[in-house]
Amino acid sequence: MRATLMYGAGDVRVENVPDAQLKESTDALVVVTRAGICGSDLWPYKGMKPSDVGSRMGHEFIGVVEAIGKDVRTIKVGDFVAAPFAWSDGTCEFCQQGLQTSCLHGGWWGGTELDGGQGEAVRVPQADGTLVPIPVGKDHELMPSLLTLTDVMATGHHAAVAAKVSAGKIAAVVGGGAVGLCGVIAAKRLGAEQIIFLDRHADRINLAKEFGATDIVTERGDEAIARVREITKGLGAHSVLECVGYEESTRTALSIARAGGAVGRVGVPQGEEMPIARPTFYGNVTIAGGPAPARAYMNELLVDVLDGSIQPGKVFDFVGALDQVPDGYRAMNNREAIKAIIEF
Ligand SMILES: [Zn+2]
Repeated sequence: MRATLMYGAGDVRVENVPDAQLKESTDALVVVTRAGICGSDLWPYKGMKPSDVGSRMGHEFIGVVEAIGKDVRTIKVGDFVAAPFAWSDGTCEFCQQGLQTSCLHGGWWGGTELDGGQGEAVRVPQADGTLVPIPVGKDHELMPSLLTLTDVMATGHHAAVAAKVSAGKIAAVVGGGAVGLCGVIAAKRLGAEQIIFLDRHADRINLAKEFGATDIVTERGDEAIARVREITKGLGAHSVLECVGYEESTRTALSIARAGGAVGRVGVPQGEEMPIARPTFYGNVTIAGGPAPARAYMNELLVDVLDGSIQPGKVFDFVGALDQVPDGYRAMNNREAIKAIIEF
């Protein structure tokens, strides 16, 4: 079969690899119908050291179950399924509390040991715990939105939950990539009265407004902080969604939270230090977040995708086949595209 490998910064190739196949009795084999390229795939794309073996890529995919191991109970051959960006058993202590990204028997897609989503098929470990059956056909028009449940929509939702968005609150979203845009959807869905969107790219701003952003801040750094203060009568936002992970964006996010507010971090931190320690301490600001337990949110968000009340699939503005995956990485890295969807 064919799949995507990364060999170093800027070096993404689609190559022949051994066919995905069942290995454990709890596995399922999924033939991929749609896959996404994620903003977090761009981190290694920017900085990975050259490798001879390459690393299998992709953690956003949906597809059809082709085979199951003998101990798989809830997933059937022929099911159309979505896989969250981490796999999990669904039964351990952390899974039971809805923190499947910390599953004691789970893990992450791709690398050198497992299949990645940006390939024709994937061996899915812990199929019963991991996969979510979706009650539509594989050619359904909702495919792009369904694909976002595997990561970006669930991650935007996690940021909003960690930032304690609720009815009547002022939310601010730092970062206008696909996760930030889904964060706007999530903040509106959870009832935020005002949603401040911090980004300066016209295409992202337009989509954010469509998704429910009420105020746009195009400034950066201290000017952005001052602008948000101005918009919030000097108090700051109740709920801040940090959807980038750079030190500057984290500094901005922490600086615009009001006293007693909360910051939900879902951008993978690119540094070791947490800035603004003292003001956030004196402001009693809650700092929460981490990798979204997408599996815990998918069923809830699926309902809203199926009835059309949210349309996160609009974040995809690059469509390609498997051979165009390297073009998708390039377009996203050059900010010519917000997010790429791969059709098989
Ligand atoms: Zn678990």
